[in-house]
Amino acid sequence: MEKLKVLFASSEVVPFAKTGGLADVAGSLPIALEELGVDTRIIMPKYGSVKARGNSTTIGKDVKVYFVENDDYFNRKELYGDKYGDYADNLDRFVFFCKQALERCIKENFKPDIIHCNDWQAALIPVYLNTTYKYDPIFAGTKTLFTVHNLAYQGLFPKEEFPKTGLDWVLFHIHYFEFYGKVNLMKAGMVYSDAISTVSPTYAKEILTKEFGCGLEGVLAERKAALYGILNGIDYSVWNPATDKKLFKNYSADTIDDKYENKEALQKELGLKVDRSIPMIGMISRLADQKGMDLVAKIIGDLLNMKVQFVVLGTGDQKYHVLLEKMAKAHPNNTSMNLKFDAVLAQKIYAASDLFLLPSKYEPCGLSQMISFKYGTIPVARKTGGLKDSVHEFDLKTNVGNGFTFDDHRADQFFTAIKKALTAYQNKDVWRALVKKVMALDFSWESSARDYLALYTKIRG
Ligand code: ADP
Repeated sequence: MEKLKVLFASSEVVPFAKTGGLADVAGSLPIALEELGVDTRIIMPKYGSVKARGNSTTIGKDVKVYFVENDDYFNRKELYGDKYGDYADNLDRFVFFCKQALERCIKENFKPDIIHCNDWQAALIPVYLNTTYKYDPIFAGTKTLFTVHNLAYQGLFPKEEFPKTGLDWVLFHIHYFEFYGKVNLMKAGMVYSDAISTVSPTYAKEILTKEFGCGLEGVLAERKAALYGILNGIDYSVWNPATDKKLFKNYSADTIDDKYENKEALQKELGLKVDRSIPMIGMISRLADQKGMDLVAKIIGDLLNMKVQFVVLGTGDQKYHVLLEKMAKAHPNNTSMNLKFDAVLAQKIYAASDLFLLPSKYEPCGLSQMISFKYGTIPVARKTGGLKDSVHEFDLKTNVGNGFTFDDHRADQFFTAIKKALTAYQNKDVWRALVKKVMALDFSWESSARDYLALYTKIRG
């Protein structure tokens, strides 16, 4: 049987360029699909950060990565904007990217069964396939899947820029591109794709509501029959305490005591009291309202009055930088505020912490809870999006569950969940069994890749 052919279109791909979770997905899912026998190729812009020479390279065993080259558009330091804001020519740049993705298929004589388009930057591909390229024989059998990684970023542009798409003004219409007087690329991508997916089953349901729909809940409701949620995985060749070279000492479920050597070493490195019995609470996050930093702000005073150590790593909104710095001054003995981006320190914190806070307002999937599990660190998470799909309340009596959760975006509920976790932590045997259990959970890409493959097959009919 001929292999299924998939073109994976993404504006960022690890290890070439990354600003968020999309890049992690784009760098791992195609490789997992390759393992399942899919002929997967990736297309992305060739930014200044891409070190590979020429207009293609490979990752995994033989996943081709095609680069779209245009130095004027892409040979810049950042992906979408700089300190002055979004680049003014972003619509030109991603119109070019989407058209070139299709032109490249023609050039390579690659007839994709599926073009898997990700986020607003690739949203014009389904539109062009149904308009400009509608009768091109290369795409006679091509279907599209559009995946939303974060609905809050939609690719909005002023109406006056619509001609840059090269499309007929008829399409600047409420059923296609028009969104409160603006051009909305994500909306058009959703309308024109054969199916839509997002990165967790719960987020797929939430985005149908006004609270989470970012104004697109109506469009999504119309496409409900073709809307799916597939949980992301993580790459265990990167995230594994048994092999992670950044740790003070490697460990596995059989050598949990070595986890606590990491804890002591990090306490020392960060200037905290070296004592493995004190619960260490970690948080690694963009410092943004989305991540529930407003709830952290409300409970942090009470939290730091308890016998805990609180280690934060993150950057983001200035107001949270100010708050955390203030807290660090008021509680120098049991806080370590690291207000920067630091991938190495992140790995050490995942390994050293006992608890990990994830009080998100909304969370399409979330990777940190999965990483925490692998490192034997127990999440305290709000039941939303991918967190709801992966973190389940632990029951001290039955030992069912893998973390501590709360329902509403409320500080009192958040604090209660933390206190429950700290109570469980006091019971050494229970805690040890819990740590061992979560380290064995499997959030690898393999099962998610199978779900995508099943969805591709379904879309093809
Ligand atoms: P989002 O993409 O919404 O920020 P995710 O949970 O999907 O959230 O992914 C965040 C990833 O970025 C995690 O792997 C987390 O460890 C990492 N991360 C976030 N902030 C920092 C930081 N300041 N330093 C290092 N890693 C960070």
